[in-house]
Amino acid sequence: MCGIVGIFGHPEAANLAYLGLYALQHRGQESGGIVTESGRSLHRRAKMGLVADGFDRKILKDLPGECAIGHVRYSTSGDTNPANAQPFLLQHHRGPIAVAHNGNLVDAAVVRADLEADGSIFQTTTDTETILHLVARSKAADVADAITESLGQLHGAFSLVFLVPGRLIAVRDPMGFRPLSLGKVDGTWVVASESCAFDLIGAEYVRDLERGEMVVIDVAGVHSFRPWGPERPARCLFEHVYLARPDSKLFGHSVQRVRKRMGAELWEEHPADVDVVIPVPDSGVYAGMGYANASGRPFEMGLVRNHYVGRTFIEPTQQIRNFGVRVKLNPVRELMRGRRIALIDDSLVRGTTSKKIVQLCREAGATEVHVRISCPPTVAPCYYGIDTPVRDELIAANKSVHEIRDFIGADSLGYLSLDGMTRAAETKEDEVCTACWTDKYPVALPPAQSEQLRLFEKTKR
Ligand code: AMP
Repeated sequence: MCGIVGIFGHPEAANLAYLGLYALQHRGQESGGIVTESGRSLHRRAKMGLVADGFDRKILKDLPGECAIGHVRYSTSGDTNPANAQPFLLQHHRGPIAVAHNGNLVDAAVVRADLEADGSIFQTTTDTETILHLVARSKAADVADAITESLGQLHGAFSLVFLVPGRLIAVRDPMGFRPLSLGKVDGTWVVASESCAFDLIGAEYVRDLERGEMVVIDVAGVHSFRPWGPERPARCLFEHVYLARPDSKLFGHSVQRVRKRMGAELWEEHPADVDVVIPVPDSGVYAGMGYANASGRPFEMGLVRNHYVGRTFIEPTQQIRNFGVRVKLNPVRELMRGRRIALIDDSLVRGTTSKKIVQLCREAGATEVHVRISCPPTVAPCYYGIDTPVRDELIAANKSVHEIRDFIGADSLGYLSLDGMTRAAETKEDEVCTACWTDKYPVALPPAQSEQLRLFEKTKR
């Protein structure tokens, strides 16, 4: 769950990268970083926290040049770690190279263990660094060939931007798990995880990088390569459900439209006889609209989200009921009192949030609370770049739908089916990754997967 951008050949490259990251902030709040190129040297600044807090005019001025890449990293609970902030920048025998990565390599830990046994010294605990080690060791004369060769040895999800003197290289893995789009502004080529980044910098969306495509951008323009053989597509459908911004175009489809259609399908599959449809903001808003439109029932913003919730606040010394959830969400009582409500959210992971929200709604006077979720039960963890808890903590991996309904205290609970979801996203099951709902992983997890997980667990704590 990261966001990446790349700019080639713009006098304000660092500024554009900054703005692009600002638009992609929802994809990661732990750290933000930019690397630029000028005079065949690369310059890096990476800061913990939000992009707007970490960068100012002076810092951006210290990032000269017309080419830039940038990265925002997803915040996980526990420790933040400055060493893991991207883009990474290092010197190797071909010169400087920087990389920013969205996705997760499933076998990086195995490859890393081999490299370490062979003397490599790693600076971070990320999978991304493994790529750079392989690139540095490759005997290929050209860095683009070295990148191709290195990525050919790794598996999993990778949307990547590399910056080397004179070239910006963007890559999407052969299954296309994570998005990556190409755009243009003032004759300058840009790449970004989501098209909403283009809107902010006044760039026009040109196209998605195709899965398995490597794009090399230099002064002569864009050169496209297909270095790897065809694989089955496995676009992450959860991007459409939750992660992406509704104003983005993702995998060729408008996110808000897909979400509304998911809501409409949800109504077809699980109608509820209610007075009002209320979404959980912000994640359930568009599915809620779709549900309400299809049902003909009124749609109301019956829960208000506080958008200024930071990491820390001073907790009351006396216990306040549902304090944790109230900090973020508060019910509009007059919209709930005496009414039967359909409460729409995008997903239910541990179930703890829903439980508290249902209780909030009841305390606000709702007479019935029917929870509707715009994706199927989340039964398996993601190993391709979405932060999910371990299987034991996934409520649907351990409880039936009826048991979950009882746990969250709802009058009824309905999940959208896989068929409903693929219909809404105008795709087919064998074109998307559905591992979190089906436990079927499109890229086999190596036997040492547990090692891989431990590696990432280490970064989390
Ligand atoms: P819970 O069931 O308490 O674990 O939380 C479910 C809520 O978390 C839903 O409202 C989702 O919008 C949100 N959510 C789902 N997946 C993620 C994720 N990977 N990271 C952060 N929030 C998520």
